[in-house]
Amino acid sequence: MPDTINLTINGQEIQAPAGMTVLEAASRAGIYIPTLCHHEALEPEGTCRLCIVEVSGSLRHGIRVACIQEVKEGLVVETDTERIQKDRRIILELLLGRSPYSKQLLDLAAKCGVMTSRFLTGENDDCVRCGRCVRVCRDKIGAYALCWVNRGYERKITTDFERLSENCIGCGACAQVCPTGAIRIEDRGNERKIYTWGQVLAKFKLEPCKQCGRPFAPQKYLDRISEKAYKPKGLELVDAVCPECVKKAEPPRPIADFGNMPDKMW
Ligand code: SF4
Repeated sequence: MPDTINLTINGQEIQAPAGMTVLEAASRAGIYIPTLCHHEALEPEGTCRLCIVEVSGSLRHGIRVACIQEVKEGLVVETDTERIQKDRRIILELLLGRSPYSKQLLDLAAKCGVMTSRFLTGENDDCVRCGRCVRVCRDKIGAYALCWVNRGYERKITTDFERLSENCIGCGACAQVCPTGAIRIEDRGNERKIYTWGQVLAKFKLEPCKQCGRPFAPQKYLDRISEKAYKPKGLELVDAVCPECVKKAEPPRPIADFGNMPDKMW
């Protein structure tokens, strides 16, 4: 397979590295394709379906999901045909039906010409079922605290047995990658809460910063950092210091270990 692939997106001839997705290739060429479930740090899953595009050329003519479709030699992609616009509007209306007040979703819908939804359910949980939180928790944090339950319309994200999670370490990565703010992290006093509209997913006591004394992180999170952190020989890792104190501190002076170096290099 050649290293560089030639394809056409919206009539523009584009070159992209083999293995790249159509969504990435379009974005690199400055062509906007809407998406909610895509995040550059996560493996794509094609969950929200908003990035649908019409393909032809080296693939049979049809609709594909740009975030999981790899570029192919001779591929012809159209991102904004009448058919795509219509399907995208239906997807957005369905998403809005459940999360009619989500600012991020409303903004995206307006950009695609959708101002209201025919599918309002009376619910409002802000979750667009993109699964970014599940993926970051599983693939990046390794905590496996979140999971999908149920099917179809009843599908939702929760914890094992829908109870306070024992696996969660309170890192807040899920809240950070959520495109609509449906998962939130709240620090109040010395307690951290990770929650969605309908459920508290996990609760923690916050440990104090060793320097300023402000409660700032759950013990499970600190343990995970100290387990995973790169600890160069000769550099002590200062545990349990809050980000503000770390920012104020002098940069640590690296201590080089030349133990195994020959006396003379040349
Ligand atoms: S806060 Fe908990 S649920 Fe969210 S990513 Fe971290 S470990 Fe997973």
